[in-house]
Amino acid sequence: MFVSASQAQMPRSRPRSPINPFQAYAPSGPQRARAPNITPQQCIKPEQYKSDPHRSVMRPFFRSSVSLAFTSRIRATNIIAIRNMTLPKTQKAVVFETNGGPLEYKDIAVPEPKENEILINVKYSGVCHTDLHAWKGDWPLATKLPLVGGHEGAGPVVALGKNVKGWKIGDLAGIKWLNGSCLLCELCQHGNEPNCADADLSGYTHDGSFQQYATADAIQAARIPQGTDLAQVAPILCAGITVYKALKTADLLAGQWVAISGAGGGLGSLAIQYAAAMGYRVVAIDGGDEKRDFCNSLGAEKFIDFRTSKDIVKDVIAATNGGAHGAINVSVSEKAIAQSVEYLRPTGVSVLVGLPAGAKVVAPVFEAVVKSVSIRGSYVGNRADSAEAIDFFARGLIKCPIKIVGLSELPKIYELMEEGKILGRYVVDTEK
Ligand code: NAD
Ligand code: ZN
Repeated sequence: MFVSASQAQMPRSRPRSPINPFQAYAPSGPQRARAPNITPQQCIKPEQYKSDPHRSVMRPFFRSSVSLAFTSRIRATNIIAIRNMTLPKTQKAVVFETNGGPLEYKDIAVPEPKENEILINVKYSGVCHTDLHAWKGDWPLATKLPLVGGHEGAGPVVALGKNVKGWKIGDLAGIKWLNGSCLLCELCQHGNEPNCADADLSGYTHDGSFQQYATADAIQAARIPQGTDLAQVAPILCAGITVYKALKTADLLAGQWVAISGAGGGLGSLAIQYAAAMGYRVVAIDGGDEKRDFCNSLGAEKFIDFRTSKDIVKDVIAATNGGAHGAINVSVSEKAIAQSVEYLRPTGVSVLVGLPAGAKVVAPVFEAVVKSVSIRGSYVGNRADSAEAIDFFARGLIKCPIKIVGLSELPKIYELMEEGKILGRYVVDTEK
């Protein structure tokens, strides 16, 4: 059971009557007269659609072929949902029944939040390479099936489970990869929640953000400041948090060199900016002139093209005057990981982030010992890492290079991602 905005404000002792999950916002009787806990900005009139504060108007770095305009009809449905506090029964989503099977853009039921969950009206979701791994099923961890993927979703909270504390209707929330953990084990107690054996994963073991309405654990859901551009912030919810945590894991000092392998992709394009904001010098590694210009525009001092370089290790050592102090591996390449251990300077740290299927780290033991290098895995971030990463973005230090297309175009995005042709991040608009 979950409660409407007006019920959420009632004293806890008052008995609650069961309500239809799809009419959570249809208070009856005296409750109807109560002002719902929704900001005036959210009560948007049809003529104001284009200035909806939750719709993105910023699309830096890209010229999208898809029009920003959305149909008043679809939009109006959502606005009525907010105004009359009635949720739709069905919604659009991309679902697959088997790993690697058809990605179906279709109508499915709007999920009902459990007692500990919030329901988020996902406006935008980033598309992470992990979503492609999940669809293909190429990791040694089973996905839920059928599955709605996606774990970089942003939107307003539209319903609350009855045990939810600290959220109200209209707050902006983010769906992260880590949807929940036990909070009891030793790892959770020490803030290593992503490593919890009971971790629940959005878009993997829990239906994610490639749908218009998604449930999220109220403890783990990310808090997004009011007024934030929801399309822009979406990639921060996985890519941003992950690379920020990976940079912390590299344990660098301001002024030191960090090599970012896979710098032109979704994680890499944010890693360059977080690294610069944290005071590090960036040597970016990726392939092609377009990615070179792109990485340089984001703050990389040097660029090495893995497609044309005859010796990447030598080139990085030359570019950094003796080797990188740290390496962030976000490329989906086993070979690139092996190279990173070799181009580190003594005492350097290679951070493993990208997850090429079946890959192994192959490092020369003699060199690793004599240079005393470290190889560390880094897996998304905990709640504090998440809040800090969002704060960098909110302070204007990180601009997400995004291209917005409709949710229905997800299969095309996966094709481009597989070919390594994406600059930055694709973000899907769940209304198209
Ligand atoms: P992406 O497809 O957007 O970017 C990958 C980039 O790597 C591309 O720009 C590609 O051109 C580049 N690349 C490919 N081969 C390369 C090579 N040999 N050298 C240098 N660059 C190369 O992918 P993404 O969304 O940024 O995700 C990257 C990886 O990180 C995926 O495996 C994803 O599953 C993983 N990931 C891990 C975590 C974590 O917590 N550890 C979190 C999110 C994503
Ligand atoms: Zn991700």
